[in-house]
Amino acid sequence: MIAVLRLGHRISRDKRVTTHVALVSRALGVDKMFVDKKDSKLEETVHAVCERFGGDFSIETGVNWRHVIRNWRGVKVHLTMYGEPFEDAVEEIREKDGDLLVVVGAEKVPSEVYQLSDYNVAVGNQPHSEIAALALFLDRYTMGKWQCKRFKGKIEVVPSKRGKKVVTRE
Ligand code: SAM
Repeated sequence: MIAVLRLGHRISRDKRVTTHVALVSRALGVDKMFVDKKDSKLEETVHAVCERFGGDFSIETGVNWRHVIRNWRGVKVHLTMYGEPFEDAVEEIREKDGDLLVVVGAEKVPSEVYQLSDYNVAVGNQPHSEIAALALFLDRYTMGKWQCKRFKGKIEVVPSKRGKKVVTRE
């Protein structure tokens, strides 16, 4: 089981980025996403995608993030540009027992998160984006196996070199 915890979500400012964190999580094999701030619209948007494109990804907003991190039974990885290089840590993380929780921020992340996490991991030491950091980390963590997941949705895209091919099921 892989989960993502999104910290510092500001409804008006971060709605697109947090939605994209959710979409990337879902597409790259994450089972559940937690968001600190309650955002019913975000939940609706993500449910609508799952309803059409399938899979069992779930989202819970308005969680107590300390509670989620403290009670997590498994490895907790905080993505931050200040952390250790992900190339150095990812193999060890993969070998750990239990579920994986990946924490990403929006605005400045409370310093407590650095202490509560088992690993503070950098995807390069330049500031960029939680979406990019998460995608690269998950790709490396799953060794690309996220691509094998089948979602069995009402809509399935058929890969094609030109145009758009989809199969629609009811
Ligand atoms: N200035 C904020 C801070 O000091 O925490 C970072 C804001 S950044 C736009 C939002 C999130 O993107 C960070 O909390 C982190 O999770 C992720 N992020 C950005 N660059 C990263 C990097 N090089 N490696 C890992 N994660 C990164």
